[in-house]
Amino acid sequence: MLFLDLKKVNMQYKNAILKVVEKVIDKGWYILGEEVGKFEEEFAKYCDTKYAIGVGSGLDALKLIIRGYKELGVFKEGDDIIVPANTYIASILAISEEGLNPLLIEPRIDTYLIDPDKIEEKITPKTKAIMAVHLYGQVCEMGKIHKIAKKYNLKIIEDSAQAHGAYYKNKKVGNLGDASGFSFYPAKNLGALGDGGAVTTNDERLAEVIKALRNYGSDKKYHYIYKGYNSRLDEIQAAMLRVKLKYLDKENKKRKEIAKYYLENIKNEKIVLPKIVTDSVWHLFVIRTKERGKLQKYLAENNIQALIHYPIPPHKQKAYKEWNSLSFPITEKLSNEILSLPISGIMSLEEAKRITDLINKV
Ligand SMILES: *Cc1c(COP(=O)(O)O)cnc(C)c1O
Repeated sequence: MLFLDLKKVNMQYKNAILKVVEKVIDKGWYILGEEVGKFEEEFAKYCDTKYAIGVGSGLDALKLIIRGYKELGVFKEGDDIIVPANTYIASILAISEEGLNPLLIEPRIDTYLIDPDKIEEKITPKTKAIMAVHLYGQVCEMGKIHKIAKKYNLKIIEDSAQAHGAYYKNKKVGNLGDASGFSFYPAKNLGALGDGGAVTTNDERLAEVIKALRNYGSDKKYHYIYKGYNSRLDEIQAAMLRVKLKYLDKENKKRKEIAKYYLENIKNEKIVLPKIVTDSVWHLFVIRTKERGKLQKYLAENNIQALIHYPIPPHKQKAYKEWNSLSFPITEKLSNEILSLPISGIMSLEEAKRITDLINKV
């Protein structure tokens, strides 16, 4: 069994997708047309925010938020943004590519999410924002994060690339901070059939700046008010995403059923299950064991593909060699022990049972 069978995911919607693709082809308008506009409306409504802006990728969404705040005079080069040390590299790249400094904070070992109790001690006058990464689909402890942000006048940027549709109390991810970046990379909970991303926000000024920035910095045709980028959600991807958005909640519900099964039935003293303290849409189901290598091999021998997200933490990457000598013991321990079991909207409970039985037997 593949870790994630993307072909099978999209086969569910193939006919509907082909129909809307044909519509776009026939219409003859391929960039920033009606489909992007409608998707932006529908996605803003889904997240319960005033604005959604379709962009080229999740990385670009985060970069555009930071650049937008630079244009608005809120951030400047050299400022710090707090970010969890165990996140996917893109969260961190977005900060450093915009000339700001990622301030790495350890995660909690049980939830894998940024540890709110370790944020305050790292804050300096240069600290301007907290990037709340809802890693693996679980929402950060936003109550504590909001308190800190308020006390130190920090912006909250959500990295929601793995958490489309999750809630904190009665509010949706994408509406839990000042601005949020989403990815529609094919393997995400809401995936396009190519690259794509979006920014959501309730901040009208920021939304206007980002709309211009994604399109060369243009506020109206042939007028450039910023030195912008080319980072637009494709019309054809927007049309496909409109089809798939309708089924996101159903797929997330299925993921929750699989996760519930794993949580209730995996019983092996050598395995630590993830702790859920908020809501999760289970982008990944990540367990932890000192014998990770053995377990991964044993599952592979039984035709189950389990993967590691992520095997090398950002501060140990060549790209950040200036950080290679830093020590983040929890992040490093996690990267040595974590293993992601298959989970998706197309997996059956029988498959979850088979995997669980294998794990309980080993
Ligand atoms: C996927 C991902 C991104 C980047 O999204 P892309 O669309 O691949 O650029 C950013 N942050 C996290 C946590 C992600 O998982």
